[in-house]
Amino acid sequence: MTAARTAGSPAVINGLETATDASVRTLQNYVGGHWVSSGATRFGEIRNPATDALLARVPLGTAADVDQAVAAALEAFPGWRQTPPVHRVKPLWKLKNLLEEQFDDLARVVTLEHGKTLDESRSSVRRAIDNVDLAFGIPDRLMGTALEDIAAGIDCHTVRQPLGVFAAITPFNFPLMVPMWFLPHAVACGNTFIVKPSERVPLSQVRMFELMHEAGFPEGVVNLVHGAKEVVDGILDHPGIAGVSFVGSTPVAHYVYRRGAEKGKRVQALGGAKNFVVVMPDADIPRAAQVSTESCFGCAGERCLANSVVLAVGDAHAKIRDKLVEEAKRIQVGSGTEPGVTMGPLITRQHLEKVRGYIEKGIAEGARLVLDGRAYQDPRGSNGYYLGPTIFDDVTPEMTIGREEIFGPVLCIMKAKDFDDAVAIVRRHELGNATSIFTSSGKWAREYRYRVEPSMLGVNIGVAAPMAFFPFGGAKHSFFGDLKAHGRDAVDFYTDKKVVITRWF
Ligand code: NAD
Repeated sequence: MTAARTAGSPAVINGLETATDASVRTLQNYVGGHWVSSGATRFGEIRNPATDALLARVPLGTAADVDQAVAAALEAFPGWRQTPPVHRVKPLWKLKNLLEEQFDDLARVVTLEHGKTLDESRSSVRRAIDNVDLAFGIPDRLMGTALEDIAAGIDCHTVRQPLGVFAAITPFNFPLMVPMWFLPHAVACGNTFIVKPSERVPLSQVRMFELMHEAGFPEGVVNLVHGAKEVVDGILDHPGIAGVSFVGSTPVAHYVYRRGAEKGKRVQALGGAKNFVVVMPDADIPRAAQVSTESCFGCAGERCLANSVVLAVGDAHAKIRDKLVEEAKRIQVGSGTEPGVTMGPLITRQHLEKVRGYIEKGIAEGARLVLDGRAYQDPRGSNGYYLGPTIFDDVTPEMTIGREEIFGPVLCIMKAKDFDDAVAIVRRHELGNATSIFTSSGKWAREYRYRVEPSMLGVNIGVAAPMAFFPFGGAKHSFFGDLKAHGRDAVDFYTDKKVVITRWF
């Protein structure tokens, strides 16, 4: 067994069986090509959301852990930078093959620690692989530009150069995929990298780093540090780190953006969401109801692209309300590993309580509860963190549930007098991650695209999720920075464009 194997491959991670307390591992960091213990004195527990079983302990690392990883990444940088781009992508090819071979196993790890259904986990593994695929093209995408005779006898060209060490700080809801929005592109560009996964779901990245070890990245090119705020602050303050890619809630995104920028780093910080789906009276209502329900309740609503507010225009409200309830009643709640289950549990008991708190607030503030998921009981009698699909009607933009991101399986139905009213409601919201419109009119669809700010927009599509070759990220307080995740922006974010002006005598 390699060093990589010893830390991250206990049966508890690869299998779905419940761990006994004695078999529970404490996770290690991956630094300079080796699995090493964190200097942490505090630890978090990783529990299976479907059963509450303890799976592993995660070190809540320190700034010293960050120092160690940065030292390894800085040492690796000059050699990695000089490695020709065509050779830099070779470990990514190997990684791609390993990810395909381990596809179902990886999906099981995601479900084990996050709770989403196996189908949802598989989709997220596929999206992670898409980013590795895209990075293969880096020799082409890294090319610069040139122009002869910018003045007589003077030529000018640009070269793209990597900047050094980058880090990604990621959220709980897509444990395997979100770090891969960044790492393949950053390292293909010639940078070295540190991942700080969510302390609530670190197992998928442990498995990913085992595979990266097997893929043969040179020591120090990719590193993994577990932890929470102390590690985040260590990353933001470290002078050896050139830039940070962050995904998480808006208050933390804003904090990371400010503190990172103050320390002179490049920062892209993707924040929270409150996504509206506008349903016009001319929409295909049954289809709009089905797609909106999938969009809201997929991944138990723990998705930054979930359309969590149906904004029904005019008489679309009367047509769609009961259909949404009918569709939601078809959802099968249960453990993500069970066949036929279409919605898993929430991430933690605390998060479940927070979402239940929103439901209570909705009732107290006068919204009408038309489907109550609080009564859901797991027929297997587990201690999982379950909540059934919940729908409120007569929600207003001023209510807490109309304003705040709930990040759970709660759909809010709002009314808009007409199209202009719907646009005004969307524009008034401080978040602007994603939105959709359902209509059979090209005119309304174009107007909507033209006038609202969210930068990921679906027309008769419920989850407008950009593929790896398009940019991913929102607007307003859903995004801080300018260059977004993956797509062409990734090469711009992870390189500097040097302009060289040449005259020969
Ligand atoms: P979170 O903000 O709590 O945590 C994200 C990361 O920040 C984690 O790695 C965590 O350790 C760290 N962190 C948490 N609190 C911190 C603090 N006070 N100081 C420094 N670091 C801190 O987010 P989450 O609950 O893990 O994820 C859910 C959120 O992520 C939702 O708001 C969701 O909309 C958002 N999200 C956004 C996108 C997007 O593309 N915009 C994608 C996925 C998730």
